Formats: sequence, C-alpha cells, structure tokens
Amino acid sequence: MLDTWTVRPKEEKVRSASQSLVSKRSDESTVVWVGDIPIGGSEVVVMAGPCSVETREQVTSTAMAVRGLGASILRGGAYKPRTSPYDFQGLGVEGLKLLREAGDIAGMPIVTEVMSEDDVPVVCDYADMIQVGARNMQNFALLKKLAKVRRPILLKRGASATVKEWLSAAEYILHGGNGDVVLCERGIKTFDSSLRNTLDLAGVALIKEMTHLPVIVDPSHATGKRSLVGKCARAAIAVGADGVIVEVHPDPDNAWSDGAQSLTFENFEELMEGLRAPLRTVQAEMALTL
Ligand code: PEP
Ligand code: MN
Repeated sequence: MLDTWTVRPKEEKVRSASQSLVSKRSDESTVVWVGDIPIGGSEVVVMAGPCSVETREQVTSTAMAVRGLGASILRGGAYKPRTSPYDFQGLGVEGLKLLREAGDIAGMPIVTEVMSEDDVPVVCDYADMIQVGARNMQNFALLKKLAKVRRPILLKRGASATVKEWLSAAEYILHGGNGDVVLCERGIKTFDSSLRNTLDLAGVALIKEMTHLPVIVDPSHATGKRSLVGKCARAAIAVGADGVIVEVHPDPDNAWSDGAQSLTFENFEELMEGLRAPLRTVQAEMALTL
C-alpha cells in the first residue's frame, strides 16, 4: 500500500522550494533597470510602440510620438508568434535594427520578443530588454538560456497559465542566474469570448502580494479592443501594477498585426492623460484621510 504520509510532505517541500527566489519575504520590492529606466519603483512605467516593426518610418514616427507623450520604453516585435503561418511573421534581424535605430533616435531603451533559443544572441545584441511571449512562458529551454544573459526579461503570462505556473517560470530565470525579471499579465483564456482574452486584475493584485518582482499589465492583448485599452491601463495601476505596455501605431487600420487593439497617437495621448494623475499619490493621500 502506498504510504501517503511519507510521500506528501516530500512533494510539498519540493513545491515550496521551487518558488523560493521569486517569493516576497519582506516589504521590499525589486527594482529592475532597463537602460536608465527603473521598473518597480515609485514611478509608473509606460512601454509603448507597434505590435510589429514594419518600416523605418512607422517605427521611428511611433517612437518619437510616444516618447513626446511620456512613454519611457519602446516596444516592437521583430519575431512574431502568429496563430497562422500565413500571417506576417516579423522582419527578423532587419526589424531589430529598425527598432534599435528608432529607440536611439527617440532616446528610449527597447524591448522586443525572442521566440527561439537560436535567436537569443542576436536579440541580445540589439535589445535592452528581452520579452518572453505568452506562448513561450513554459518553454523551459528558452527560460534556461535567458537565465544566462545579461539583459532584463519581460515574462508574459501564458494565456492558460495559473499564477503559480507563471511564478514558477520566473523562478527558472532567477534560479539560472538572472534576477532581472518583470512579470506581465496579458489576459487569459476563460469561458467568455466577448474579448480577445480576460484581463486578470485580481491575479495582478495577488501576484504582487506573492513576489518582490515588478509586475506590469498589457491591456492591448488582454482586451484586443482599442476603446478598452486606456480604461484597463488605469485599472491596472489602481490594483498596484508597476506599469503598462501598450500597442501604438500611426495608422492602426492598416497595421500588419493587431490593428484592432492598437492606439492612434491621439488615443495614446488620452491614455497618458488618464494615467498622469499620480494614482499612487492619490491612493496614499486617501489612506491618510480615511
Ligand atoms: C506581443 O507583445 O506582440 C505579443 C505577441 O504578446 P503575447 O505574447 O502576450 O501574445
Ligand atoms: Mn501584438
């Protein structure tokens, strides 16, 4: 007969040990630096840029626009994980070069996705921060490789991943030697298909209680719908996120990917106005008067 009394405690020990580096042990939170931008400090960080890098003009004009409106990190995909093989797959190295150039012109560090282990060196050559996309959150070989690079990692939550699995994925990177991990909630799959995904804001509040790592929210992929991006960005900050990452395009209707959720420059200006009210200060003041 199986001796459950000896098996169970062992399993639990392994489970808790597997998430020890990411766990919050005190009130202290980790600040992750991307170039000269701190994530996880007192300031809310806004990362913005196109879903895909398309042309020099498209990415540079977007960089200049979002920088002027207060974004501090430029995003853009050169390697695109697309559901269909017939959809635009990204410009690859050419896209990395254009994103780097745009970031340098606008004076912004850049974040971009790496999809395969083979591309890690070239992406590290160009990018200041490396994104692990939702589809690769449990690509453990990729996570182990990224644990060895000297670049901060933006770890997106898998669309069907639990909060614990997401934390365990981060644990792989910390365990392997890279402590600079920022977590990103980007919506999960639920029974409700009204939107592209379901933004798990309670999951954000929860994971902030569980880990010392910074956590940001991607309301673009979470909703798939332009009109909801600004509202969900505000909500994300209100529940304690350290920042947001949003898609912006000069002409969203003609974007090569994710146009429906991409903001125009004007929409992005409105989003920034909505965030400009220093929400954390307001919350702190409210707490004092309650
Ligand atoms: C993206 O950031 O463009 C992207 C593909 O994100 P996700 O991995 O969250 O779908
Ligand atoms: Mn996208």
